Amino acid sequence: MTEYNQPLGGNELARFSGPNTFMRLPQAESAADLDVAVLGIPMDIGASWRSGTRFGPKQIRAESAMIRPYNMATGAAPFDRMQVADIGDLPINTFSLSDSLRIIRESYEAILTHDVIPVAMGGDHSITLPILRAIAKKHGPVALVHVDAHADVNDEMFGERETHGTVFRRAWEEGLIIPDKTFQIGIRGSGYAATDFTEAQGWGFRQFPAWDLWHKSLRDLGAEIRRDIGDRPVYVTYDIDSLDPAYAPGTGTPEIGGLTTPQALELIRALSGLKIVGCDLVEVSPPYDPSGNTALTGANLLYELICVLPGAAA
Ligand code: MN
Ligand code: MN
Repeated sequence: MTEYNQPLGGNELARFSGPNTFMRLPQAESAADLDVAVLGIPMDIGASWRSGTRFGPKQIRAESAMIRPYNMATGAAPFDRMQVADIGDLPINTFSLSDSLRIIRESYEAILTHDVIPVAMGGDHSITLPILRAIAKKHGPVALVHVDAHADVNDEMFGERETHGTVFRRAWEEGLIIPDKTFQIGIRGSGYAATDFTEAQGWGFRQFPAWDLWHKSLRDLGAEIRRDIGDRPVYVTYDIDSLDPAYAPGTGTPEIGGLTTPQALELIRALSGLKIVGCDLVEVSPPYDPSGNTALTGANLLYELICVLPGAAA
């Protein structure tokens, strides 16, 4: 019988001590023999406005120390059924975005030689493109659940084609995602042109702007997405700025009028049963997060994502 790793409990060792791993899980040297590998990608050189997401993984890990193993709302007991560990941070090159994206892709290709689900703590959103390159190499084009204030479908920024604002245009161009199984949820804010969002609808992307979701439960939308994706492999990318800045102020490009924390929980919980092959939580910027609330929220959303991975459900 497998001995599953357990998060170090608050009654075993005071929560403010011990290892700075996600939920104080054991640290593993590699993804071998794991069902789920949590990892950090401490990077902010793909961001266009405020920086600071290089400190995201460290702060998310710190805030995750308070999370307990059992999900009281859903009954999920992920650490009773899956082998989960924190495999540390990827060794990005903070002086070169393009080299960092190469390192991320190659690291993911190595991780994905194992039968493991990688769960990434960003980092700015530029990390998701090399992740999707590696994911698609293994699984083929994937369905995508993309929760974000921004569509991230710019063509270029300052002439650069790989930034945190161009990720999903590149992913579409490179055939990494299934366009009509790509769901963008929570988009809003002001644009450079009136067509900023709608061009991607022409590629097949399904968009759910925040203003259409205000005051509504996201349970039905989540269930609709789950039905629509069916048994296809799916990647979930969660930009913390999808939440309203009232809930998640510590981020690089905040937009008012966002989703609420209960909506985020409803959406993630509705994805249970999908064949999730990887996920990330990006854009937590601790220097803009003096209370730690954004990192705390990010840590909890990662925990909720782990609770809906295949193999976690009761
Ligand atoms: Mn984004
Ligand atoms: Mn965003």
